Amino acid sequence: MKILVINSGSSSIKFKLYDMDNESVMCKGLIEQIGSENSYAKIVTACGRTKERSAHIIDHAQGIDIMNELLFSSGVVKSLDDIDGVGHRVVQGADIFTDAILIDESVMKKIEELIPLAPLHNPAHLAGMKETLKLRPDIPNVAVFDTVFHQTMPKSSYMYALPLEFYEKYKIRKYGFHGTSHQFVSKAGAKILGIEYSKFSCITLHLGNGASIAAIKNGKCIDTTMGLTPLEGLMMGTRCGSIDPAIMPFLMRNANLSGEEVDNIMNKKSGLLAIGGTNDMREIEKRMDAGDENAKLAFDMFVLRVKKYIGSYIAILGQIDAIIFTAGIGENDARVREAVCNGLEIFGIKIDKDKNIEPRDEPRRIGATDTKIKIIIVPTDEELAIAQDTIRVINNLKYKKAIDDTD
Ligand code: ADP
Repeated sequence: MKILVINSGSSSIKFKLYDMDNESVMCKGLIEQIGSENSYAKIVTACGRTKERSAHIIDHAQGIDIMNELLFSSGVVKSLDDIDGVGHRVVQGADIFTDAILIDESVMKKIEELIPLAPLHNPAHLAGMKETLKLRPDIPNVAVFDTVFHQTMPKSSYMYALPLEFYEKYKIRKYGFHGTSHQFVSKAGAKILGIEYSKFSCITLHLGNGASIAAIKNGKCIDTTMGLTPLEGLMMGTRCGSIDPAIMPFLMRNANLSGEEVDNIMNKKSGLLAIGGTNDMREIEKRMDAGDENAKLAFDMFVLRVKKYIGSYIAILGQIDAIIFTAGIGENDARVREAVCNGLEIFGIKIDKDKNIEPRDEPRRIGATDTKIKIIIVPTDEELAIAQDTIRVINNLKYKKAIDDTD
């Protein structure tokens, strides 16, 4: 089965085509700067063939047309008939969607109703879905939500201590994000350790430019660091993470900034960038080694916050089997991993410094032989997880249809 995965952002479309018979990537591509004069499209096939287009791509509809044209002209597929399903990443499914779902008019209407909760993302996702469905309504399109994995959180975790009407009227609560990644790496971690997923408890550390941590008990998420939006929780590349919420009105009153402006600063001009001068952890470390004290402060602040969440999640999980590192920093940055684990021996977390620095791209264990809680690195693959969910939804529908037909 061939599954196309589409991640449609506010001005970009990323796509990957999978041959799910062996879970291999047939090609991947992206369309950038949609709506600007400098729009750009590119596809790279599994054998390294590249095709590029520079054109003024006015909207997502045209972007999807160009994606199809690149898929055909690169020879990966002859026509859309070769594609068995399309999986769409959707950032915000709120509490309406508790699993991936076949996209139809009613599903799109609900995703539209959630736009106030994801004003940049959900409209872009919808534009991508509408166009792929318009071109070939007979090919199943499936929505896979970043929020679904976190839907198992108990109410005590996801509620904010605000007037109840804010929850009831505006749906203000913690939703969490990166769910596909947390689920993917935790399932892989359980497999590596040979533990049944429904009995597996762990803390997953998705440390990238955007960063979040999830507490998983017996295969179910019970808490996560991101909240109503991806701003809550850890210090990130450009996001401040959790801060005293009174800072916002303080800045509005005293620095004469609008709510919009403060929001923009907290999302785009804070985090590692604000303290260390760059949002790239590799650069932070280079500067730190050259004696830059602000870069060192940024590194220390980042690590401290990760450690604080590990400690608090161990407290609510009780016994855990593993902590799992993933994403750009989690997978590649041995120094951050060592700094995070340093001092956590009291919890039974003991890293093997040699294993930690081995440069390998595959899932691996980096705990010392006597570590009580296993320490694992699992490269995340959110697109593959979306393709797997898409196949699961398509197969369930086929099964249901077969049952209905025999009734
Ligand atoms: P996102 O998907 O949220 O944009 P990524 O998962 O790609 O982010 O992670 C980006 C972060 O990973 C950056 O801070 C970058 O410095 C860091 N990173 C990527 N590769 C390496 C590496 N080899 N060593 C250390 N840090 C790395």
